[in-house]
Amino acid sequence: MQRYNLPGNSIEIVIPGDYKPKQMKSAPSLPKKSPKSSPHTSPKKPLRYIASRSLFIVCGLATLGNIPVYSMISTPDATSSVLNLTEVESGSPAQVLQDLNLPAVASESFSGFAMDILPDAQQGNWKMRTLVEGDTLETALDALKLSKLAKPLLKDAAIAQELETLKPDAALLVQVVDDQLQQLIYTKGKNNAYIVSSTDNGFVGKWESDVFEIRESKIAFTVKHSIQRDGKEAGLSNSLIRQLGHVFRQDVDFKKGLRAGDKLGVIFEDYQYQGASIYTDKVLAAEYSHRETTKQRVRFTLEDGKTDYFSPNADTELKRTAFDRTPVAGGRMSSGFGMRRHPVFGFRKAHAGQDFAAPRGTPIHATADGQVKFLGRQGGYGNVVELRHINGITTLYGHMSGFKQGLGSGHSVKRGDVIGYVGSTGTSTGNHVHYEYRMNGVAQNPVSVDLPQVGIMSAKEMQQFKNHASAMIQQLTELRKVAAADAPAPKQNGG
Ligand SMILES: [Zn+2]
Repeated sequence: MQRYNLPGNSIEIVIPGDYKPKQMKSAPSLPKKSPKSSPHTSPKKPLRYIASRSLFIVCGLATLGNIPVYSMISTPDATSSVLNLTEVESGSPAQVLQDLNLPAVASESFSGFAMDILPDAQQGNWKMRTLVEGDTLETALDALKLSKLAKPLLKDAAIAQELETLKPDAALLVQVVDDQLQQLIYTKGKNNAYIVSSTDNGFVGKWESDVFEIRESKIAFTVKHSIQRDGKEAGLSNSLIRQLGHVFRQDVDFKKGLRAGDKLGVIFEDYQYQGASIYTDKVLAAEYSHRETTKQRVRFTLEDGKTDYFSPNADTELKRTAFDRTPVAGGRMSSGFGMRRHPVFGFRKAHAGQDFAAPRGTPIHATADGQVKFLGRQGGYGNVVELRHINGITTLYGHMSGFKQGLGSGHSVKRGDVIGYVGSTGTSTGNHVHYEYRMNGVAQNPVSVDLPQVGIMSAKEMQQFKNHASAMIQQLTELRKVAAADAPAPKQNGG
């Protein structure tokens, strides 16, 4: 095993033969790019573990024979770290978090959280801004407190022209060395960037592709003081810490629920430039352990495009209702299901569906996956679409002004697909959709009927998820061994 000292009193443990240490302080020349790696397939990724300084505590105690595997590690910092022991008491509650504002709604950017710089990259003098609506090069540099340094750059007409419009959610990275603006990177797409470099003849800018090498990084640590402090010391960015709070939102409240001794492991996307980790985007998988309980979550995107963090053991069996209650967004429930006076003919008659009033042309959505059983004109229903679903259920949508172009009998539709538009064709007094829900041909009240449940993942999705998750779980499990060694040591008897 090799050991490297990193800035901030953390150490990096490298599994033998796997990985060469990267230069942290100064950026080496641009390494040859390996083929762009997908975040989901990286069997030969180096196992890189960064443990927080608490490892030193463990090291100190390890020499007493507690944890032999780390007994080979000794460090000149051991004395200062041992002082930390007074702050660490097994089982005591972790400090209340400060300044950890979890967003109520996921914000922009790829992960839904603003990207930010990794603590390591601050050593390389990088600064970063996730651009917002209305940002110009000048306002963005101003926000980074670099407007003064950037004056010569802002005067460059060619660069100003290229960077005239900046895309919200893109990143602006700036490297400052010796009070000189050394490099500026504007990431327009995920791997399409405009790079400005300082040369003897002033600034030179050019567009480049595959600027960043995207890798998976792993960090494990034990909570001792606060998630922010310990997470930062272990090498996590603010964004990653916030994301962890989101990932485990159903398991623990990061603001109040964490305890000293809780362990966290995280696998995340790591953007490297010129051999150094610069910034992160999203958590790919994570693990949270409290005493004997361990929760694991793996990021996965369902076929409908929804991305979430699923528990590999539990969530694959999660059920959701197979039907939406309403076929139009924002439609007002007008005439209800059951006996009523007929709005046109005046006599009392059972109303076999539920009416939703909405402006003409409002899209009508399939309330569940199914096939088109009928599409056309049908007496009082006017323009109507009838869908066939699971469990002998059919739904019907009447009085449409028109059908979704290209939709025909026998076609498959997905829940939420537009099938037609609100109108007032057939026997109708105004623009609305007449919605029926039938079980084996018998009309049910669509508003109150018990809806069938289906698995949250299709069989195909479940297979994909399981394949992906098993690789992640294996890595998280290996990571946990490091975190376990990082745990506060139990108090010695009489000590
Ligand atoms: Zn009706």
